[in-house]
Amino acid sequence: MSAILGIDLGTTNSEVALLRDGRPHIIPVDGEPIMPSCVGIDPEGHLLVGRTAKNQMAAAPEATILSIKRQMGQNVEITLADRRFSPETISALILGKLKTAAEAFLGEPVTEAVITVPAYFDDAQRKATQNAGTLAGLEVRRIINEPTAAALAYDAHTATDQTVLVYDLGGGTFDASLVVVQSGVVEVKASHGDTHLGGDDFDALLMNHADQHFFDTHGIRLTEDLKARNRLWAAVEKAKRELSDAPFARIREEYLLEDHHLDLELSRLDYEEMIRPLLRKTMDCVHRCLKDAAILPGQVDKVILVGGASRTPMVAHMVREAIGCDPQHAIDPDLIVAMGAAIQAGVINGQQTHSVLVDITPYTFGTSAAGLHAGQWRTDLFVPLIHRGTALPSRKSEAFATMVDGQAAVDVRIHQGEAPFAEDNIFIGNFMVEGLDQEAAAGNEIILTLALDLSGMLEVTALEKHTGLSKTVTMQTGEQGDRFDIAHAREQLSAMMGAKAPDTGSGEAQNPSGRPALIAAAKALRKRAVALIDVIDATDAEELQNLLTDSQEAIGGGDMDRLARINDSLGDMLFYLED
Ligand code: AMP
Repeated sequence: MSAILGIDLGTTNSEVALLRDGRPHIIPVDGEPIMPSCVGIDPEGHLLVGRTAKNQMAAAPEATILSIKRQMGQNVEITLADRRFSPETISALILGKLKTAAEAFLGEPVTEAVITVPAYFDDAQRKATQNAGTLAGLEVRRIINEPTAAALAYDAHTATDQTVLVYDLGGGTFDASLVVVQSGVVEVKASHGDTHLGGDDFDALLMNHADQHFFDTHGIRLTEDLKARNRLWAAVEKAKRELSDAPFARIREEYLLEDHHLDLELSRLDYEEMIRPLLRKTMDCVHRCLKDAAILPGQVDKVILVGGASRTPMVAHMVREAIGCDPQHAIDPDLIVAMGAAIQAGVINGQQTHSVLVDITPYTFGTSAAGLHAGQWRTDLFVPLIHRGTALPSRKSEAFATMVDGQAAVDVRIHQGEAPFAEDNIFIGNFMVEGLDQEAAAGNEIILTLALDLSGMLEVTALEKHTGLSKTVTMQTGEQGDRFDIAHAREQLSAMMGAKAPDTGSGEAQNPSGRPALIAAAKALRKRAVALIDVIDATDAEELQNLLTDSQEAIGGGDMDRLARINDSLGDMLFYLED
């Protein structure tokens, strides 16, 4: 069974996780659990993704992009060093790098993922996320809400019903969600947020403060110089993090502008006064969210903090005051969403988890039929069979009847949506059931059954009741119709990568048939070889060991041609030895 990844595609940072032995594990990218959601182009024209891109942000802001998530679902173009990208393509590069890291970690190719999105994301934003996954070579098995994922990660060990408040303060966005876990079903009851409020705004306040200090000392405005501004941003962001653990932080930047230095001490108390109005705004969202869900603060069983900026001590303090319970701290707020996504991925994959939670369908599925609507006869009514919010897997049947005597066939048409008329909903697919009993009068009963499995596959069966004649068709569900041309974007991307393949040493996202695939294949072969080395004769073992050493050298030296040849030799030898 190949792995399905759980991915938190975040505004500022992204993470990838995997369910193993019933528990989620974070997969390191470039040796770190968190990868900046940053893409750039270096001076030689190579694509950079993650930490390396973030590192060049201060020096080359025009060739680097962070926070692409804010533009997902918009028909915009992003220009980086004269090259144009869609938001989907930038996100695909981020996802591609996570995929490559997972493949290197596992030693085998990975082609499927569950990706999280904010609860407030609309269809266009969700679809754009799905397209980015496809573009990165990942089949997106499910898009799940970030607060649902967070609740999944926390509730993986409990079977009790819970009312959970998820407070998610990231780099650029805030949202509060009320999640109810009931009989193993996780449901977001209400979500409220601000798409332009997050840790970046705290940085901006600190930047203004530092800029004023610099101006008072040297009479020059720092923020008018792009490079100095970016250096200052990196410095205040670091100081901000330090203030989460210490009462004071010092910013020292030499030769920040011309020959002037910046030397400034910040106190947590002063910082808290600066950000208090912004944190108050987050609490307003929390209250609105509780109101929408018709829940009183005292009815909340648990508060989960998500997102890097929720580490600010004042957040826990304000939440405690407003809700009356201590927020949970057991799971790292940066990693919790990816861990929940990995749990969901494991459930889809049929893996054993310690979780009792089950998934729900976010869509209603049904068929079109004739009938009365508001006293009028219509032939295009939508009859829902599986309702939105139903726990999966689900199987629902309904009896329908033929319209005329001797009717030989019926056209079964399946739609997704909530509108009363079929054509206003999304058309999923149709099939004909032919060869019905021609002797039967109108009213010949046809039983329609819809079965939706955990992976969102919908199986539709139509059965002529009195003869047993039946037909079953499997349909792929999800949003249909899309302005984004995947094939075109994929061509553009591979042309771009082919022309300037990323620097092999930095592990950037690449063409799936290139370096990552070779390394993944090498790792899988090495694993098989290591398992054999102790049980084969000494001469074979020596030959195998030499190939293993060569393979390690080729990977270390980035020599992919050599690695391809060694992979072939290893494959041949294993074929002979394993036989
Ligand atoms: P996220 O989008 O969840 O990755 O959150 C990123 C935001 O969290 C950025 O604004 C970071 O500066 C901020 N952040 C990360 N760690 C801390 C910390 N220890 N204290 C305060 N803010 C932090």
